[in-house]
Amino acid sequence: MSAKDSAQIQIAYSVEHIEEGPKFVLTQLIEHHNLLGAVASEIYALLPDTSVWALVITGDLPKSVDARTAHRGLSGYTTGRGAGHAGAITLPREEGGFDIVLGVDLLVDPPGDDLDIEGIVASSLATGRHLGRHEAGHVLLSLRGEDSRTFRDDVNGLPLDAVGWTDVVAADVDDFRIERHTREVTPPRFSHVAGLEDALHHLAAELRESKRMSASDPVGAMKRSDIAIVGSIRVFAYLAAELGLDDDGIPVAPSEPSDIWDFYVADMWSRWSAAFHSLQPVDAPMGHHELVAANHSLCRLAAQWSARAGYRRDVTAGGVHTAEWAGMQYGDGLGANDATAPGCFDDNPD
Ligand SMILES: [Zn+2]
Repeated sequence: MSAKDSAQIQIAYSVEHIEEGPKFVLTQLIEHHNLLGAVASEIYALLPDTSVWALVITGDLPKSVDARTAHRGLSGYTTGRGAGHAGAITLPREEGGFDIVLGVDLLVDPPGDDLDIEGIVASSLATGRHLGRHEAGHVLLSLRGEDSRTFRDDVNGLPLDAVGWTDVVAADVDDFRIERHTREVTPPRFSHVAGLEDALHHLAAELRESKRMSASDPVGAMKRSDIAIVGSIRVFAYLAAELGLDDDGIPVAPSEPSDIWDFYVADMWSRWSAAFHSLQPVDAPMGHHELVAANHSLCRLAAQWSARAGYRRDVTAGGVHTAEWAGMQYGDGLGANDATAPGCFDDNPD
């Protein structure tokens, strides 16, 4: 299919796996409010060569992703991201180019408290614009050879406890660069500051549960903690982009800090934010060495912050993975750093 938007951009788009209810709403948004034009013009702003990308709107993101990654032997994509979930993704096509895949849910049921139709439509369009611009950022990084896959494996000089975080933190490097840009041109309707408290309580609850299960299922407990820590670092990346720096270049902290923020993040926040802000927004190119250096700083912080939060994960020189839950308790932020005897294990006896 193809459509012309208000800027007369010819774009390829398709719609898949959408049930009747959301399909009706989507059709209204497309036919009466130029949703496709709004999304396409944001993608076009970063990717004026429209032969490089196609837009897909799906009612089943995992199904759409699996269908496009099966040729690479990948399956089982899920949208859960610890605290939050993914609403869009960009995938390279087998024959070249990229599919920019947006989940229909955020378009037909956008964030916000709007009750009137005008407000809901405005939120849908703003969300579609933001998602389009964000995903276009991923394509741009890939086309410029600056996406996380190009620098995440460069771990020379990185301590072993930090090496384990490199691929997850590298993905956050991409997203921070993109969000720094989209925050200025197409700000989203959702706020990571507003969701912060919930995200940190989620982290605490997951660490608490992991510690409880660590004796009976150490590998499962490690995975569970890893997902929670990774999700939190992802929140920090988006939070740093949302809060930004003040006029003197000092990282801005949330204006209403809470006990759990004070406990888990506060005294390391300026280092997290400064490390992310050493990165350029997606529309400004960066060199390979700069990206590696920024990724290394963030990996060191990840190892240090995770250990401070009561979860220490390490890799020995022999490649053995270990994990330890050193917090007396997790959840209300009290006493979580009182070390107990470490419950080390390895999940890679070879
Ligand atoms: Zn992203």
